[in-house]
Amino acid sequence: MLKAYKYRIYPNKEQKVQIAKTFGCCRFVYNQTLAYRKEAYEKEKKSVSRIDCNNYCNRILKQTYTWLREIDKFALTNAIYNMDFAYRKFFKEHAGYPKFKSKHDHHKSYTTNFTNGNIAADFENGKIKLPKLKEVKAKLHRVFEGQIKSATVLQVPNGKYYVSILVETNHCEISHTDKKIGMDLGIKDLCITSDGKKYENPKTIRKYEKKLAKLQRKLAHKEKRSKNYYKQKKKIALCHEKIRNTRKDDLHKVSHGMISENQVIVSENLQIKNMVKNHYLAKAISDVSWYELTKQLEYKAVWNGRQYIKIDTFYASSQMCSDCGHQNVDTKDLSVREWICPACGAYHDRDINAAKNILAEGLRQIA
Ligand SMILES: [Zn+2]
Repeated sequence: MLKAYKYRIYPNKEQKVQIAKTFGCCRFVYNQTLAYRKEAYEKEKKSVSRIDCNNYCNRILKQTYTWLREIDKFALTNAIYNMDFAYRKFFKEHAGYPKFKSKHDHHKSYTTNFTNGNIAADFENGKIKLPKLKEVKAKLHRVFEGQIKSATVLQVPNGKYYVSILVETNHCEISHTDKKIGMDLGIKDLCITSDGKKYENPKTIRKYEKKLAKLQRKLAHKEKRSKNYYKQKKKIALCHEKIRNTRKDDLHKVSHGMISENQVIVSENLQIKNMVKNHYLAKAISDVSWYELTKQLEYKAVWNGRQYIKIDTFYASSQMCSDCGHQNVDTKDLSVREWICPACGAYHDRDINAAKNILAEGLRQIA
C-alpha cells in the first residue's frame, strides 16, 4: 500500500537557494515543453508524446540552458510528466487548455524519484536526504517503514517548507479482536466510550487557546496595516498552526488506540450531533476535534480491516436505559450526570449509557 508521510523541513541558506532554483527550472521546463508541443501541433499537426518532450528537454533545452544541468533530473522529468497529464486531460475531458505556469504561482513544488538511496529519512537525527540537497533538517514526528518511491518538496505561501514522502509500506494489519465500542462525542471530554473510557480534550490546546486570545486582544490595539499589526497577525497565524498540529497529534494517539483495541466502532453522525445547542466557543473547539477524529477513524478502519459506523438517524441516546430500553425523560435535563432507571433499577453514568445505546443502534443498523 502506498502511503504519504508529510514532514516540515528546515533547509539552510544554500538548500533554500537550490530548492528555489529547482522550482524555477521545473516551471521553465514545463512551459518550454508545453510551447514545444503546442507549436508542433499547430504548425505541423504533429502530436508529441511525453517521451518526445523529455528528449527535447535533454537534447535541446539542457544544451541551450546549461544551468538546467545543475537541477535534479527527476524533478525536471516529473515537471514534464505533469504538463503531459494536464495536456492529455485537456483532450480527454475537454478540460481547460493547460496554462503556462507563472512566476507568481503560489503553488511551489517539485517531485523527485527514488533511486540508489538518493532519498532517505534519518529518524534518529531528524534529517532527510534529498537529491542535490544532501541532508535537510526535518521534524520527523512519525516513523515509517518500507520502500521510498518519491519525495515532493513544497513551499507554502507563508514561506515554510515541507516534504511529502511516498512510501510503499508492507502494512501489517493489526490482529483481529471481537471488541466493539460505541462512543459519545462530548464537550467536556472529547469522547466517552461504552466500556467506560473517557478521552480528555488535550490540555495543551487550552494553554495555546489562552495565548491565542491574548494575541488577538493585542491585535485589536494595533493600528491597522501598520508594521506591528502585520507582526501581530503573523504571531496569531503561528499560534493557530501550533493548535492545529497539537490537536492532530493528540487525536492520532486516540484514534490509533481505538482502532487497535476494537473491531467495530460506532459514533453518531456529526451533522446530527451538531443539532444539539451548546456554548458557542466550547462547541466550535470540539467540532474541529470531532471532525478530525472521525476522519482519522474512517481511514484507519479501512487500513486495518476494522468497521467504523456512523449512526445517521437522530437518536435520543442519553434518554434511554441501555439495560431495559426504558425512556427516562428526566434525563433531558443536561445537568443529570448519573441516574437510576425507574423501570429496572440499573445505575447509569449519563455519557457511558449514551455510548452503550449508540453501540447498540450501530450494531442494529449493520445487522
Ligand atoms: Zn432500565
